Amino acid sequence: MRKTEQDILQVASVALRKAALNEDAKHFILQNDKLYKMLKRAANRYIAGETIQETVPFIKKLNDSGFLVTTDFMGESVRNETEANEATNEFIKFARVVESENLNSSISLDLSHIGLLVSEDLAVRNLKSICAAVQDCRQEVILSMEGTDRTDSIIGIYEEVLKEHANLGITLQAYLHRTKKDMDKLLKLSGSIRLVKGAYDTPLSTSIPRGDRLDEVYLEYVAQLLEANHKCSIASHHTKIQDEAIKMIHQYSATNYVLERLLGIGNEELQVYNEKGYTCRIYVVYGREWYLYLCNRWAEYPLNLFRGLSDIMEI
Ligand SMILES: Cc1cc2nc3c(=O)[nH]c(=O)nc-3n(C[C@H](O)[C@H](O)[C@H](O)COP(=O)(O)OP(=O)(O)OC[C@H]3O[C@@H](n4cnc5c(N)ncnc54)[C@H](O)[C@@H]3O)c2cc1C
Repeated sequence: MRKTEQDILQVASVALRKAALNEDAKHFILQNDKLYKMLKRAANRYIAGETIQETVPFIKKLNDSGFLVTTDFMGESVRNETEANEATNEFIKFARVVESENLNSSISLDLSHIGLLVSEDLAVRNLKSICAAVQDCRQEVILSMEGTDRTDSIIGIYEEVLKEHANLGITLQAYLHRTKKDMDKLLKLSGSIRLVKGAYDTPLSTSIPRGDRLDEVYLEYVAQLLEANHKCSIASHHTKIQDEAIKMIHQYSATNYVLERLLGIGNEELQVYNEKGYTCRIYVVYGREWYLYLCNRWAEYPLNLFRGLSDIMEI
């Protein structure tokens, strides 16, 4: 690809990451029926549906094909207690459906969806309720990692709740310089660690940009996790990363890993790993709050915008 083309994609990526965090745009789309329906045609590629009922058949089909699943009821940055509690109840309802329908699905969630921006106490209380419900169906709760202004709180709450609920995991972002220390600290705890590159717009002073250096750092963390045989997820759509990770799985005879991808992105490739006997998980999302999620999927790979355009035009 020529430099000018790369520059345009880079600019688009930065713009989309900024757009992802624009809460006014998110609310405008949610309230504008025509715009919502139009953009949802692009989101449909990445989401199972708007409700639990629509999502269950997706999970069953994935489980039947041998995939583990984790499910996220999308939403973030909730600023009032009622909405945070409603989201919590939805996660608990989902856990009950997992049990009654005998599904194999853990839960993934953003702490800011269940109250982090109202108060840490509320987020802790709600997280404990969800962990308790999920424990009943012998599943796990995995915390997503959000913007850098929330990293300390998310790690702090994880450490606190993990003392009472062993079925809790956390996501770490390889692009942050601070992750080296966080990884060393969290490896001492029993909870699972999902390793991602990082999706949020961050200043260069705090993070490593996409490229060879970030890939090297990501793989160093993979080696650290696999060598310790720590319960972990190698969450990436990058073929090079997953191929290198597979070599390391053999090198360290690791057994406590999953290879994980988001629904709708490179799932055929994950199916190949799955058929070869590697443990693979698909991250399924549902709900109406897909705005940030869609922007992030476009930002990671701006050529997806063209896919989105053809989905919107129903071509
Ligand atoms: C299961 C899971 C959970 C995640 N949870 C979080 C989280 O909690 N917090 C957070 O900040 N981030 C999260 N992410 C997103 C993550 O940080 C990255 O932004 C995302 O995975 C893209 O990085 P990558 O390693 O997949 O590939 P990149 O290095 O971004 O790209 C490498 C190659 O992978 C392919 N690719 C990457 N993304 C896409 C895409 N969207 N569509 C098509 N092809 C693509 C392309 O071929 C691309 O050239 C999560 C990702 C996964 C898979």
